[in-house]
Amino acid sequence: MFQRTRQAGKRLERIVYERTKSLEVAVKAAEAASRAKSDFLANMSHEIRTPMNAIIGMTFIGKHSSDIVQKDYCLTKIGNASHHLLGVINDILDISKIEANKFELSPTEFNFEKMLQQTVNVINFRVDEKQQKFSVHIDRAIPRTLIGDEQRLAQVITNLLSNAVKFTPEYGTISLTTRLAKEENNRCTLQIAVSDTGIGISAEQQSRLFNSFQQAESSTSRKFGGTGLGLAISKRIVEMMGGKIWIESTHAKGSTFSFTVQAIRGTEERLSILSPKISWANIRVLMVDDDVEIRDYFKEIVQGVNLSCDSAANGIEALELIKQRGAYTITS
Ligand code: ADP
Repeated sequence: MFQRTRQAGKRLERIVYERTKSLEVAVKAAEAASRAKSDFLANMSHEIRTPMNAIIGMTFIGKHSSDIVQKDYCLTKIGNASHHLLGVINDILDISKIEANKFELSPTEFNFEKMLQQTVNVINFRVDEKQQKFSVHIDRAIPRTLIGDEQRLAQVITNLLSNAVKFTPEYGTISLTTRLAKEENNRCTLQIAVSDTGIGISAEQQSRLFNSFQQAESSTSRKFGGTGLGLAISKRIVEMMGGKIWIESTHAKGSTFSFTVQAIRGTEERLSILSPKISWANIRVLMVDDDVEIRDYFKEIVQGVNLSCDSAANGIEALELIKQRGAYTITS
């Protein structure tokens, strides 16, 4: 009798101990989530107030200035700050929809290369400002048109590209590569990667990156700005498109963000850019560039349309090739 009571007492003790432990874990998780949201609110207030102050200040200066050049300068600053503010508001709207389970995709048929072109155009001027080297690699096996949510796909690529530009110093290198990873019954799996030679992210920080309201570290947001929502939104979009997103990064060396998405093959076929009426067999192309990646990519495109192509890293190599193999029809 006494022994049974003692055993029951021990069982009770164990249950109380386990419940206390799981309560402690839950309280810690709730505290961390609450801290993340407080940090997020502080960041967000800063992210909204800074462009707002710029808009109000520049409007005041512009209004009171009679110099047309200064007015123009103020308008440009107002334009930039307004765009930035709109980006922040869009992120907040998206994350609110995600948290309320109201985030939806709108698939349409779209031209994949055109979408990429428009996306690249948006960030090109920032790449130029920082004098970074930027290359885009499009896999010719990807169908000309796809059925999927063009805007949301562009949003993920834009987010990764603008992060790459933001976190890579001047003269750094950024690349965007696309690949048809799989195609089954007209369902294509695309793999898209954005690589940079920027500040990189430590292994410990990488695990938190795709959570809402998280940045790698608070000093990063103070230095570079940002809401910490972009990657969480991107993760949600990619998962809704039947894919996943991941990162490989080395601190102070650079990062590669990769993701997969599924899309249905569209109805438009890839057109041949060469007229069938002309004989192309004797056309020889010479490509000269000091970047081996650009040379290889150019060669791949030219050989992809059945033209013969040689490449050289500099003028001396090019002249040597011309001496050995004769003049080329096209040099680039
Ligand atoms: P943010 O608007 O703050 O950039 P994101 O969710 O897009 O929000 O990114 C979250 C954080 O991940 C960034 O604040 C930064 O710390 C880190 N990060 C994202 N991309 C890169 C990158 N290419 N290189 C280094 N750090 C990055």
